Amino acid sequence: MQDSFPHRFCPCPREAAAGATSATRRLRHGLARRAIALSARAVLRRDARITATAGALLAAITVLETPALSLAAHAAAPATAPAAPVNAAPVPLIEAESALGAGRARGGAARPDRKLTAFGGACLGNGWGRARGDWAEYTVTLPRGQASLHLRYARLARPAQTTNAGASTANAPAANTPAATRLRVRVGGLERIVALPATGDWELWRWIEVPLGDVSKVAGGQGTLRLEAMDGGQPINLDALVVAPIGAVPPEVARRLLFDGSRHVRIQFSPGVRLRETDRLFAVAEAAYAFLHDYLGEEPAQRLTVHVIAEAERKNDFVGHSSGYAIYLDEEHIFETGHNWVHEMTHCFQRGPGRWPAWLSEGEAWLTYYEAETALFGRDRAQIALPPERFASRLPRLRDTLTVNGQNTIQLWGEAGFPDERVGAAYGFANYMLSELRRLYGPGLMRRYRALLRAEAGNEANAADAIARDTIVVERLGRAAGADLRPLFRGWGFQLKPD
Ligand SMILES: [Zn+2]
Repeated sequence: MQDSFPHRFCPCPREAAAGATSATRRLRHGLARRAIALSARAVLRRDARITATAGALLAAITVLETPALSLAAHAAAPATAPAAPVNAAPVPLIEAESALGAGRARGGAARPDRKLTAFGGACLGNGWGRARGDWAEYTVTLPRGQASLHLRYARLARPAQTTNAGASTANAPAANTPAATRLRVRVGGLERIVALPATGDWELWRWIEVPLGDVSKVAGGQGTLRLEAMDGGQPINLDALVVAPIGAVPPEVARRLLFDGSRHVRIQFSPGVRLRETDRLFAVAEAAYAFLHDYLGEEPAQRLTVHVIAEAERKNDFVGHSSGYAIYLDEEHIFETGHNWVHEMTHCFQRGPGRWPAWLSEGEAWLTYYEAETALFGRDRAQIALPPERFASRLPRLRDTLTVNGQNTIQLWGEAGFPDERVGAAYGFANYMLSELRRLYGPGLMRRYRALLRAEAGNEANAADAIARDTIVVERLGRAAGADLRPLFRGWGFQLKPD
């Protein structure tokens, strides 16, 4: 069935294009208006803790309203730009994944690794470098004299062993960075060894320069450049290579793409992004973060990464999703607050302990989106993709789509075999459920739920199936609400264990 969710997975309700052109202006003025009026909103009246958001917002708005000011913290420490002079002459950039095929690479899967943040939207990855001796070869054009290879790569450190306490550190690379893994570089008769430190994540890219020496002796000005993984066990994502005269940094290499100065959020542009307004991006990101921190009563275990993806890398893919502690947003809609900023960031706030059924994680992400649009960004309710008052008319259709043999299959959402054609209805129904819970029990419900979840993390981890899991989740929601919610959920077609 056609529903009003023009997204695929984790869309997360993408706004219609209406009003997009004035989104920037609306954001600027909306933020200022809302920050001042924040504590007066009904959503806030019920819970004084959320008013703390106002201070953080006003700080962010200072930047929005006075563009001449730059956030000193954000301007500091270029993450990727070397200090050497930029050579304006164009130098061919080689896509690392071009080695695949024609027998010019070994290791990992034999297909490009789709990475929206990489040049051309793909890299050589898929486990390349896991085996010692994995290699790739390229035909390169060499300058006269001394030359350098510039290599763009990303590497997450190998996860440490699970500790006795059962806490895996797999998601904490910063505290768990092993020694750099080594790469052998050969061109002509020259050989160099370069150490590649972990960059912190599979899509946090870094350029590294490898001085090659005098390449004049390589016959004909063209040579085969070979990369070989020396250590194994440490996969590497290789994005791009540039060979240039030493001391000159090609523009592709010098261009700053990673902005690393904020305490809560870093921002990385995909290579095709042309916008430069990082201060405004940080302001929106920090406002969304501060709102979620107060609204949900906790914060993620790691700093978040916001990837801004250009059309050149996105191609026909939908952008508006999250993965781990990173969110991916479309450059074209980046200053629309409704473009998944809060929705996707909410998913990063769900990476903590406990299990999140899809209906609850997506429902909560809709709820925070709705609250932020109305209470934080001053959005007119009528412009929101699906305001709560419109749920009622859609409900029978959503129920019909999801119901099989009298049971609401939304409980199986996220499991293998859940049919694609029910996903739109599942989003709609999950949003409706969280809308109803908010109406009945107020905006503090999910914060209280999260506090209980932290205290009882893992109670549902061993649940045998969705029914056992949801029995625990619904019971906990009930304690957060101060009411028995089992009849409500059974009325929605949920199957729960007998009381
Ligand atoms: Zn989502």
